[in-house]
Amino acid sequence: MSEESRNPIRLLTPEVVGKIAAGEAVERPASVVKELLENAIDAGATDIRVEVRQGGQRLIAVSDNGCGIPGDEVEMAFTRHATSKLRDAEDLEGISTLGFRGEALASIAAVAQLTILTRTRDAHAARRLRVEGGRLVHHEPGAAPAGTLVSVENLFYNVPARRKFLRQPTTESAHVHDVVTHYAMAYPERRLELQVDGRSVFLSPGSGQLADVLVSTLGLDTTERLIAVDEANDGLRVHGYVSTAALHRATRADITFFVNRRWISDRSLTVAVTQAYHTLLPLGRYPLAVLLLEMPPDEVDVNVHPTKREVRFRHGQRVFAQIQSAVRRAVSQQAPVAATFTRPEWAAPPRGQWGQAGAGASPSLPHSEPGRPTVGPASSGPLWESPAVMPPLRVIGQVAQTYIIAEGPDGLYLIDQHAAHERVLYERLLHPHGGESRPDTQTLMQPLTVTLAPRQAATLHENLPQLQHFGFALEPFGGETWLMRGVPAVLHHGDPTRALVDILDEIGAGNTPLQDSQEARVVASICKQVAVKGGQSLSQQEMRELVQDLERTSMPRTCPHGRPTMIHLSANLLARQFGRG
Ligand code: ADP
Ligand code: MG
Repeated sequence: MSEESRNPIRLLTPEVVGKIAAGEAVERPASVVKELLENAIDAGATDIRVEVRQGGQRLIAVSDNGCGIPGDEVEMAFTRHATSKLRDAEDLEGISTLGFRGEALASIAAVAQLTILTRTRDAHAARRLRVEGGRLVHHEPGAAPAGTLVSVENLFYNVPARRKFLRQPTTESAHVHDVVTHYAMAYPERRLELQVDGRSVFLSPGSGQLADVLVSTLGLDTTERLIAVDEANDGLRVHGYVSTAALHRATRADITFFVNRRWISDRSLTVAVTQAYHTLLPLGRYPLAVLLLEMPPDEVDVNVHPTKREVRFRHGQRVFAQIQSAVRRAVSQQAPVAATFTRPEWAAPPRGQWGQAGAGASPSLPHSEPGRPTVGPASSGPLWESPAVMPPLRVIGQVAQTYIIAEGPDGLYLIDQHAAHERVLYERLLHPHGGESRPDTQTLMQPLTVTLAPRQAATLHENLPQLQHFGFALEPFGGETWLMRGVPAVLHHGDPTRALVDILDEIGAGNTPLQDSQEARVVASICKQVAVKGGQSLSQQEMRELVQDLERTSMPRTCPHGRPTMIHLSANLLARQFGRG
């Protein structure tokens, strides 16, 4: 907020107060840091420093070079429901500042010893105010550059019950670290620094590039394996970075959203992202994502939760769909070839010294290399430079009756024949004849009776509509016996009874990604059963057909279970390995 557009601090009317989602915002040091950071950002600061000592219990200090508070308003800022950001209930419809409740300074000052030193650009002197446990202790002139410094000492000194819930200083500091890094992601044009016990542990350069902040947060190696997303549609923009299918985590914790630069948590949007990786990730693994959504302020209600971490969208379905398609498109266009060997020492990208988040990172400034404004496949290391869509390949031969060797415009490809065939069949079954009709059924000359084990029969019951949709003609025949009159056409050779039993076992084993639809699981299980196996020798013609079929799929790089279909040895890599590069 610039000084010209800033309104005076005023008390909200009881009517407006009644409409505000009230709540205790001060839970732990990280929540204090969050509130003070938001104030600094709302004040238009471009340089913000956060310092904590003893996990924030001893001291939390946030200094900024923002607009400052006019001398005659400083005391007012500590009154509950006094704010310069909101005037009437109508303003609640389109909030463009991070704060609006006028509660934070009052709440923090009530449970700590707080000193504020603040000066507007045109004031001659600064003001220093000390509030302890909610009581004004002194208010005097001071000397300070334009901006604001808030120091919070001895948090919860007068609320022992609350103090008991504080964790180890390292844990509290980690939460603070999380808050600071996330605000840095949302505001990459501002310089944010965090010091913990006198040591600088995080610094965002303020370059305006999200990628630079990610390098400071996730490290260079991880950042290099992210793909840029940026799609705008009808006033809704989704941009940021997501991981390639080759990079995944054990939890959803690295899926992050910002709405109009507010860090939010939203289960449904997390589902939108994980579903976009449908069939691309192994079971129980989750992508990384940092996605910023921009929409008109009246499309999102931020006044639903005391800490403002949860929001409500006016058109939630649309937001969900757009995130999912943007991520899906980015990932399917750019999935790099999986590399199963380690990167040679000398091919490693330059390593920064700032390292992983929190873990004793050094105070050095993360620098972005000139001419490298964003991080993506174009600037990636040697193993990630291959384009996403599969290039046309020339089949050379087969190794170990399991892998097809092929040559492409950029080096050598090893294709897992089973995984590749699974991918081809999967798409053929899900979208038969260009997606118009149902998959074909092959009617059996002689119906077969199949007697199943109880578990298999249960699986069949649960998945009967899907099995029928994909071509199984099955009728109950009493007990655990079924009459089979037809099979999916793709299964036409082979033993139909065994195929059905194997497919039921496969569905029952749940080897497909959990977020998959029931339909997708049935299909993946059929494909696994039908696909050519490793150890099966293929003619040159069969291999050529398989590779051509694979080229036509939408996700040629992975099988429906999320494993890679191919390994790429780039011409560059070969040259270097042979000492030619
Ligand atoms: P809110 O942010 O919801 O308005 P706060 O209690 O956090 O409520 O702050 C009260 C008021 O004090 C703000 O509306 C703003 O005018 C002023 N203020 C607080 N922190 C700063 C700061 N760092 N720089 C400038 N003004 C500030
Ligand atoms: Mg505030």
